[in-house]
Amino acid sequence: MADLKRKRELGRGERVLPGVWRLRLPLPWPGVPHCNAWAIASGDGIVLVDTGMHEPGSLDQLERALEMVRLRIEDVKLLVCTHAHSDHYGQAADIVERAVCELWMHPNHEHMTRAAQDPDAALQRRLEVARQSGVPEEPLRAYAEARRGQGFGISRIIEPDRPLLPGVQIETDIGPWQVYETPGHAPSHVCLFQPEHRMLISGDHLLGRVSLYYDFGYSPDPAGEFLDSLDVVEQLDARLCLSGHGRTFTDVQGHIEANRALVKERIEKVYFVVSRGETTAFDAVPQVFGQAITPQNANWWLSETLCYLTHLERAGRAERIAGEPERWRSL
Ligand SMILES: [Zn+2]
Ligand SMILES: [Zn+2]
Repeated sequence: MADLKRKRELGRGERVLPGVWRLRLPLPWPGVPHCNAWAIASGDGIVLVDTGMHEPGSLDQLERALEMVRLRIEDVKLLVCTHAHSDHYGQAADIVERAVCELWMHPNHEHMTRAAQDPDAALQRRLEVARQSGVPEEPLRAYAEARRGQGFGISRIIEPDRPLLPGVQIETDIGPWQVYETPGHAPSHVCLFQPEHRMLISGDHLLGRVSLYYDFGYSPDPAGEFLDSLDVVEQLDARLCLSGHGRTFTDVQGHIEANRALVKERIEKVYFVVSRGETTAFDAVPQVFGQAITPQNANWWLSETLCYLTHLERAGRAERIAGEPERWRSL
């Protein structure tokens, strides 16, 4: 409950390097108090990477952060989103409208845009996955009740003007940025890399604090995709990381290794749990995470466990046993 009473953060802007600014924007989420957008000087304006989430007053927070570094929304010449989650894309429509600029984003953004177009269907799908995974009726009903009518944190869905794919270059005053596809956290995820400065904009792919999250149900093997994306970023040999949450950090390699180690550890934990006897995904969660499921972590941890089970299935190490609910066993 302490989280609900916590004083709301304000949007803040600070210079990271000449021509690069961090815009720290508040989020309403317990445990994740803010996200970063990045402004990079480009000619007589800026390229803005990511947007902050849409909620009442959120555009004012972005303006406040920009003002602190003497910038305005109207200075945005190009908006780029690292992925289509609400904290990185939620205000895209408002910014594009105000600044009259283009939006570039990876084309696999349906995990958000389709869900936001039909929230009821998205909720139904999510409940179906939960039921199938062994979540009992009562918590499921309470969850559905709490979710109903909740927004997606997106002001309006807009399609990108240009697909953000490898080969696309983002021109800025400190040099061009290259695009690398890094799915796993979300199917639409990309990282941006500036080779002369060896600077990486990592979105939510690499964060200062290791925190795993995958969008489940939109691609065959999110955990495997995430591991492959860590390899992609490792090749770049970045020396400064501007991540989607938290401070910038320099030990990029250390962060890559810590993420890889944690994913592998969780995969092996899930394998260990299913190897001890048939189980539903829901029953596996407390054994994997060492804590009971709560309404706050249920969706997150269940999705993560399902991602590891799917990964083990693809590797031929586990199989699902059809039924209501579905059960899993090791091979
Ligand atoms: Zn995200
Ligand atoms: Zn994020």
